[in-house]
Amino acid sequence: MSNTNNVTQLYRQMGICQQVLDFCQKVEEELNPRFMAIDQTAEYNQMKVIKAMQDNRVSDIHFAATTGYGYNDLGRDTLEEVYASLFHTEAALVRPNLISGTHALHVALSANLRPGDELLSPVGKPYDTLEEVIGIRESVGSLREYGVSYRQVDLLPDGSFNYEGIRAAIGPNTRMATIQRSKGYMTRPTLSVGQIGELIAFIKGINPEIICMVDNCYGEFVEPIEPTDLGADLIVGSLIKNPGGGLAPIGGYIAGKKEWVDRASYRLSAPGLGKEVGASLGLNTAFYQGLFLAPTVVASALKGAIFAAAVYEQLGFSVTPPAREERHDIIQAITFGDPKGVIAFCQGIQAAAPVDSFVIPEPWDMPGYDAPVIMAAGAFVQGSSIELSADGPIKPPYTVFFQGGLTWYHAKLGIMMSLEKLLASGMIDVNRDKENLKEL
Ligand SMILES: *Cc1c(COP(=O)(O)O)cnc(C)c1O
Repeated sequence: MSNTNNVTQLYRQMGICQQVLDFCQKVEEELNPRFMAIDQTAEYNQMKVIKAMQDNRVSDIHFAATTGYGYNDLGRDTLEEVYASLFHTEAALVRPNLISGTHALHVALSANLRPGDELLSPVGKPYDTLEEVIGIRESVGSLREYGVSYRQVDLLPDGSFNYEGIRAAIGPNTRMATIQRSKGYMTRPTLSVGQIGELIAFIKGINPEIICMVDNCYGEFVEPIEPTDLGADLIVGSLIKNPGGGLAPIGGYIAGKKEWVDRASYRLSAPGLGKEVGASLGLNTAFYQGLFLAPTVVASALKGAIFAAAVYEQLGFSVTPPAREERHDIIQAITFGDPKGVIAFCQGIQAAAPVDSFVIPEPWDMPGYDAPVIMAAGAFVQGSSIELSADGPIKPPYTVFFQGGLTWYHAKLGIMMSLEKLLASGMIDVNRDKENLKEL
């Protein structure tokens, strides 16, 4: 019996019907040229990571744990040099004490803004959890409470920058610009690194003193360059997304100009202490090894995202980005226009997980979000969204956001399982669907 037959048999045992298998097989074959391009980017980024580790003479001594204050934590300090080399920055802060992407962004912002300063978002509304950090939604401890004002310039309807609006919004108090690379929970397009570079050049042309920070969440290693290669003063991200490679159990990073990174370190620990303290508690190995795997993990996630786009586009749903479009992050949005679709999709992703596959996710009121959210994640690390995961706020237009996949095969199973759940929930009309499946 051939290997293909064995896999088919196993898929059937796992609950994937022949119709779905055939349909997905066809879609996958059409995507092969795209997958090859993704592998080429992964190869480039893999070499970048290895070179950064070699240039900084990473050694097994760096995997030792520190405790207490964490003075002279060689592994931590060297890891930060590796990140700085990799992102071509003067400095980096890479810490388990940065407990999430939101926290890292909060630290970077609050460290570099002072009362009277203004923060500008030239790319529209930022990620949901930042609304409370900034004070767009009233919140205890927000930047607004500390006298930092905020201005926002939305993208134009076609997704491009509103350069005139941005010029008008920049005033004498504009101290920082926050630029979100990924679309997050929105249906706007994700920005390419090239576009971000153009935006930064425009802002610096008006006032070179404005600190340009990029929220790099979900963007790392998708392209061969990062925003710091095109003028970003700071990039910020989460280690339970792309750069943790699925192995980092916690953490965040802030990389960029030394002065701004140092300020972040004083905010994270205490004035006078900065980067010198913060025990790594034995997590260094996972951080190094996760970074080492990150380029191939991101490639798997990208393949999953494109596959999901192609599958759902063929079934007639609106997907962002469209299947054929070039990728700038690992998130795929699929709009169902019906809460049933979001729920069935998430239940399918959950059913495909290695962990907690028997659990049925339901919407809940998650802190930091303004609508109930359903999340599917059978993850080894709680909330890790570089692992195969799907989530969506239960509000119109009922869009699910799908991301991650430590391996491409797992992402593929997840999408096939989501199709099974949509069939079962009646979201896909079986007869119409059968026709579609036959046509392809
Ligand atoms: C995930 C994400 C964040 C917040 O990160 P958490 O780790 O969930 O706090 C911020 N911005 C963007 C664009 C994100 O995708």
